[in-house]
Amino acid sequence: MDNFKRINDTLGHGIGDVLLQSVAARLRAALHERSDYVLSRFGGDEFMMLIPDVSGSAEAKDFVERVVRAVSAPMKLQQHDVLVTPSVGIAIYPDSGKNADTLFKNADLAMFFSKRQGPGISTLFDLAMNTSALKRLTIEENLRNAVSNGELTLVFQPQFNLNNGCLDGLEALLRWRSIELEMVPVAEFIQVAEESGLIFSIGEWVLRAACSQAKAWLDAGMLLKRMAVNVSGRQLSQRQFPTLVRDILRETGLPAAVLEIEITETAIMDNDTWSNQVLAELRAIGVAIAIDDFGTGFSSFSRLREFPIDRLKIDRSFICNAHNSSDDRAIVVAIIAMAKTLQIEVVAEGVEEIAQMMLLQDEECTSAQGYLLGMPLPASETLQLLNRIRLSSDSSRSQRLLRLVLPSAVA
Ligand code: C2E
Ligand code: MG
Ligand code: MG
Repeated sequence: MDNFKRINDTLGHGIGDVLLQSVAARLRAALHERSDYVLSRFGGDEFMMLIPDVSGSAEAKDFVERVVRAVSAPMKLQQHDVLVTPSVGIAIYPDSGKNADTLFKNADLAMFFSKRQGPGISTLFDLAMNTSALKRLTIEENLRNAVSNGELTLVFQPQFNLNNGCLDGLEALLRWRSIELEMVPVAEFIQVAEESGLIFSIGEWVLRAACSQAKAWLDAGMLLKRMAVNVSGRQLSQRQFPTLVRDILRETGLPAAVLEIEITETAIMDNDTWSNQVLAELRAIGVAIAIDDFGTGFSSFSRLREFPIDRLKIDRSFICNAHNSSDDRAIVVAIIAMAKTLQIEVVAEGVEEIAQMMLLQDEECTSAQGYLLGMPLPASETLQLLNRIRLSSDSSRSQRLLRLVLPSAVA
């Protein structure tokens, strides 16, 4: 039942109980001509009907249509007019499963697909709804409450200037420890969030959390030039996104110049006219713009001139082989040279080895980020890092550079 929880919450459990009884009665009435079915309720708002000897999917759908119609008719419960709709999943033996467990699981999966499409929909299981679809739906179900359950956190990865060894900024990276599913990789759940629209509330949470954290560190006397926040293409395509950014900056008190928005190259290429305008508005607020995963999105160099951007982040895939593949090295060198003519700064992503860092220094890449220089850290450990940097900020340039390569060399 699609809206049982809401009815229970607003009208009380007493009425919720009566509602469940009425729905059960309606289900029985809808199948009145048969005496051989099993009807059961399990879980708060779920019913299962087992109907033997169905001739095929046409007859099954026919049953289900009657059920949906019967349940969806308005009902009066102690003076309240109540409307409930069912989302139905259908599984038929043997096509949808050869044993009870599988049939049951697949009916459940089909039901999830129905729920996603809207209230009162029924869906017949088919094999395309495979386990990856189930995983995706489980992620979506759990992600729905991640913000309100306080399951999201940020970790922060440092970006260092390769010329003077100073901290250039931090990138905020999202982490989700779900109560149900434990750690879910960010790439996996961000995609689900984008497809389901949950990215809007999650993205807003990320932006607010990163800004207020940066402000707190500035207030504590830390040297923090930049807090970079990843923003998905869907957020960027929202007309009101710049207003949201302005509101969050005002609310948290973070100076706009400290905030940098990272957008992947593919996201910008996908909706260029719109994003051009949103990017321009963001820059008018004073926020910096970086293109993330640069080199993977096939943007032409000439188009790059049209975008109001401050920084390019060279994708990790080019950096990881730059020191031993001449092709990748050539790409990295070309990106750095092009950025220089356009007066855009460059951050190399995913620097893991000293050889990679030395190559980047030789090519005068502005800054670098990667496991060699610093892992993404939770807030408490980031504060320790910021503190160490603050205390050693008057050390010499060569000491700072040495510290990048050999963190243990300079305590
Ligand atoms: P990204 O923005 O390109 O972030 C860099 C990713 O590379 C991070 O993965 C980081 O942990 C990883 N990384 C950094 N240095 C190294 C290295 O030396 N070697 C290797 N192998 N990996 C390194 P993470 O945190 O798993 O994030 C993956 C992607 O998920 C991010 O890529 C970003 O596109 C997305 N993402 C993360 N947080 C957010 C968020 O708050 N909002 C949105 N929309 N997307 C996010
Ligand atoms: Mg990023
Ligand atoms: Mg990236």
